Amino acid sequence: MKKRLLSFFLALTLLLPAVYAQGLSPSTADLDQQMETEHFVFHYSVKEANAPKVLSDLKKSFEGCYGRVTTALKQVPAGKSDVYLYPDISSYHTAFSWQNLPSSSVGQYYNGAVYMASPANPGTEHTYSDCITIAVHEFVHLVIDLFGRRQPTYLNEGLASYMAGQTGSLYYVREDVRAKRPLSLSEVEAIASFDGGRLYGYGHAYVDFIVKNFGNDAIIGLLEGQDRETLLGQTAERLNQRWLTYLEKEYGDRPPVIPDDNPPSVPDGNPPPIPDDDTPPAPVGFTDVPDGTYYTDAVAWAVDRGITAGTTATTFTPGGNCTRAQIVTFLWRANGSPKVSGDMPFTDLKPGAYYYDAAQWAVVQGITKGTSATTFSPNTVCTRAQAVAFLHRGAGSPASSVNVAFSDVAGSSYYADAVAWAVENEITAGTSATTFSPNEICSRAQIVTFLYRSFT
Ligand SMILES: [Zn+2]
Repeated sequence: MKKRLLSFFLALTLLLPAVYAQGLSPSTADLDQQMETEHFVFHYSVKEANAPKVLSDLKKSFEGCYGRVTTALKQVPAGKSDVYLYPDISSYHTAFSWQNLPSSSVGQYYNGAVYMASPANPGTEHTYSDCITIAVHEFVHLVIDLFGRRQPTYLNEGLASYMAGQTGSLYYVREDVRAKRPLSLSEVEAIASFDGGRLYGYGHAYVDFIVKNFGNDAIIGLLEGQDRETLLGQTAERLNQRWLTYLEKEYGDRPPVIPDDNPPSVPDGNPPPIPDDDTPPAPVGFTDVPDGTYYTDAVAWAVDRGITAGTTATTFTPGGNCTRAQIVTFLWRANGSPKVSGDMPFTDLKPGAYYYDAAQWAVVQGITKGTSATTFSPNTVCTRAQAVAFLHRGAGSPASSVNVAFSDVAGSSYYADAVAWAVENEITAGTSATTFSPNEICSRAQIVTFLYRSFT
């Protein structure tokens, strides 16, 4: 496993500036066949034995990511981009003979174009579908290059890996975090090119960290070469603290997760992980909600609407877990705190608790059926899948016409319709291009953001 991962990363080759300086160019003489699509020109050989299928799959991969990548990075290639498709790995290596490519290299971005071996003949180290994903990775490099600057390698590779949804390299991050030796931000910046999978893994995690905490536009600012501390409004020391907290939360050992909305009853009586959310409204900003995060506006909106008052007068605890009691309360307040009457089927809810009326409303509205016929489990943490399911039911369970492409959302799951609805309404874009992370604990920042996006 480890060896294969390593060779996989070695395959994603970065070009070196020295190569430009020498003015070398790969031979494309044999690639005299062309297929034009809306945004690409594919150059291939008459020797491409699997031409119809390979070209059709590559067209899907390149055109399929084009809008997403160019929109996210706010850069659009001037004309159609060239993709040079060699009929097999050895002809691709021959064309780049000066680069001494490792046997695992099957594609690269080079000087404005993408060059790759046919996914049908990728050698011994890769599968057909690896190569289709690598196509996205290389196109991301092409778009990054439109910023016209030499980018830090970890950012360039990390963004390509992140946008292609290549999560395999995160293995190295997880391994380090669990061994209590995560790399600091300055160590990430110093990773040598092709230091195993760490360059890709930490680069990928870094991009995810920036997007989750500061939003997509912060990535653009970094690609433009803006000073990071100024751009993010954080000292280097503070940013590194947040980075290490992020790593621990995302890749450290996890508490057990709840598989769905109707798990076996969980014994109650555990204290909530954070103070109950029934403190009086805070008139001022929270010290732990800086400007410019993805959830800053959402928290301000939620406070303004009386949906949350924070965990204390001065803190919101954005990274804190959201409990089931909190989410129904937030949803109830967002709907105007309607009073309802009716039987309360749950024996684990105390009349007078801040969430009691909210839970009763949620039952009447069909938003929750509890964790069993008689329990609601108010203090159990809420997963992202449950959060989106609650919101979807709160909105009346509208149907959705989009197909969700997240690899971790099975069409048969209880939350599949809810996730599709949330994507269609831009309530969530997932945790990466290809994942929704349904079983991750929903943080307070995430739930408030989901609510904000669904109500505004
Ligand atoms: Zn790359």
